[in-house]
Amino acid sequence: MTAQEPVGIVPVKQLRLSDAVAAQLEALINSDHFGEEGRLPSERELAERFAVGRGSMREAIRKLEALGIITKTHGVGTFAVSGAIPRMGLLSAGEVSALELFEVRYTIDTLAAGLSAQRRTVGDLKALKVLLDHSMSPDVDNAEFVRLDFEFHRLVAQSAKNSLVAQMYQQLAPHHAIYSGKVISLPDRRSRAHEGHLRILAAVTHGDASEARRQALEHLLAAEEDLVSAVEESDSHPTDSPHNR
Ligand SMILES: [Zn+2]
Repeated sequence: MTAQEPVGIVPVKQLRLSDAVAAQLEALINSDHFGEEGRLPSERELAERFAVGRGSMREAIRKLEALGIITKTHGVGTFAVSGAIPRMGLLSAGEVSALELFEVRYTIDTLAAGLSAQRRTVGDLKALKVLLDHSMSPDVDNAEFVRLDFEFHRLVAQSAKNSLVAQMYQQLAPHHAIYSGKVISLPDRRSRAHEGHLRILAAVTHGDASEARRQALEHLLAAEEDLVSAVEESDSHPTDSPHNR
């Protein structure tokens, strides 16, 4: 579908309402619209102001949360994260298909893991281990897990000690958030992802570059398989509300 479209033309049907809302909300946050405290109105109020359903609003909020642009504290409220780095426009995130993302990740993740096995420092290994331990904490919700998942791969890319690899990896953040967000609620998705991360880390720790590349590839194959199941799942429940995404 997407891959055959001429460059620069985005089929309108791919532009999801929640992406448009998230992009607008991000722009408001970046222009300090919500004042010094950065407190966002309630989901209900935002949905009314954007004239969208609660499901789309919730998804837009979840997306910005996964990207670290806002943070939600239960019982307290939702706040803009001060000093959050302005990201690439979220609308462009919706323009990248899963296929395009995976094509790039198959190359860049395996390259990064292989180089990391050869170049990582003890400090890199420690940071990766701390992050993975934390990702299994019961306090970590799905949105946070998605963020930590990306952070793990970003740190691996950083430990490859090639600044272009690290920079290119950073560009994947919004796309990763969207597609990981689609699979994260599948049964056992988190433990499967975690086990994959542990295997990558073990190979990197042992300095085994070819094993690290292999494990990075396996991890992506499993993620792609999960994405296919998630899509099939949502196709078989066409009346599902966006709440379940
Ligand atoms: Zn992962």
